[in-house]
This record gives sequence, structure tokens and C-alpha cells, in this order.
Amino acid sequence: MTRVLIVEDERHLADGLRYNLEAEGYEVEVVETGEAALALLLPPNARFDLLVLDVMLPGKDGFAVISEVRHAGQFIPALMLTARGRPEDVLRGFASGADDYLPKPFELSILTARLHGLLRRNQWTSRTQSPPAAADFFTFSGRTIDFNALELQARGRTFPLTLMEANLLRYLIRHEGKSVTRKAMLEEVWGVREDTDTRPIDNFIVRLRRYIEDEPSRPRHLLTVRGVGYRFLADPGM
Ligand code: CA
Repeated sequence: MTRVLIVEDERHLADGLRYNLEAEGYEVEVVETGEAALALLLPPNARFDLLVLDVMLPGKDGFAVISEVRHAGQFIPALMLTARGRPEDVLRGFASGADDYLPKPFELSILTARLHGLLRRNQWTSRTQSPPAAADFFTFSGRTIDFNALELQARGRTFPLTLMEANLLRYLIRHEGKSVTRKAMLEEVWGVREDTDTRPIDNFIVRLRRYIEDEPSRPRHLLTVRGVGYRFLADPGM
């Protein structure tokens, strides 16, 4: 059975979510604070399949929670509930490690559709018997990205990727050799069109460099294009 953890301090909203998700066959647990969520998520044997995380919580907020979860190496699919009209929340959520977001107020049917999407992605990664429908790999300079498993192999190590890290890599790879602007990345990868702070993009690039580059401070694959954005080079030559 799929276990969903809902972190939401608005009781009526949490109850509504629980009722509807249980009706769809999910096993649901609700907590009201970030601290309670971390107590359930951080143990290595934590057994939740999906996380629905409100941003505005008493005590630790949703950004702090997802950030700690990711730092602990837990790659549970996470959807954040953000306040409408706050694109900076959306970006901060993704930069902290969220996989998807939904602005409040939302339709329940939209939420369950998003959760199905996240779960589908996760089931590809955990299915050991049958391979995913289509292999989806990209290999460059001795590194391999597995877009189904959300993993990057480099220097003999395997780095788990969040969905958004994988989406950003895919976008950069698709434009291999060309400069892409931060604004274009925001629009195409995150679907954020408002004029907003693009710094979260830089945080993503810093993380991706730690996975990809031999020397993250002297990148050869993920290059900064001053005053513009970034450029991906699969094979920078010697
Ligand atoms: Ca709240």
C-alpha cells in the first residue's frame, strides 16, 4: 500500500486531504509541524512513498523540512503546497529539493493527479523485476545520467537526483553547446513566467556541479556564461 505523509497545520485541509487520499486507497498519516515530519522521515528505515508538505508551518517551515530530508539522503517524492502568487516560494521549494508544487487553494483532483505523476516516476525507480518501458540514459565524458532511475553516475559514485535536478540537466543537455538564460530555464524547466529572482537556479547549478565536475570550482561541463546564464558541454576536450 502506498503511504503518504501529509504535513499541514490547517486541520480542515489536512482532514480533507486524508479523507480523499484514503478513498483512493492510500495509507495516510498527518502531522502538523515540520519537527514531527522530520521525526518520521529522517530515520533510515522511514517507509513513506510520498510527501505532501505545506510551506507555512509553525516552527520549521516546509523549506527547512525538505532541505533536511534531502541532506539526509532521503529521496522520497515531495510535493509542496505554496501560497498563490509567490513564485519565489516555488523556486525556493525546488531549490530546497521539492519535486513538484501546487499553489493554494487547489482542486483536490489536481493534487491527486500530481501525486499519481510523482508516484509513477518513483515506481519506475523501485521496480526491480521489469525494466521501465524505455531506457532513458545520457552518457558523456564517462558520466551517465539515468533519467528513469533519477541517478547520475560519475567518478565511481552514484548520485540520486531530484526530479527537478534531472529536468534541469535534460534541458541543458538538449541545448548542448549553447548558452541558455536563467529566465529561459525558469520558464522551460519550472514553468515560472513571472519576473522573479533567478538565484535559485544558481543553487541548482552549484549542486549539479558537485555531482558532475571533477573540480566543482573549475567547471568544464557546466559553464557560467557571464551576464547570460549557463552552457553545457558534453565533451569539453582536453
Ligand atoms: Ca500552513
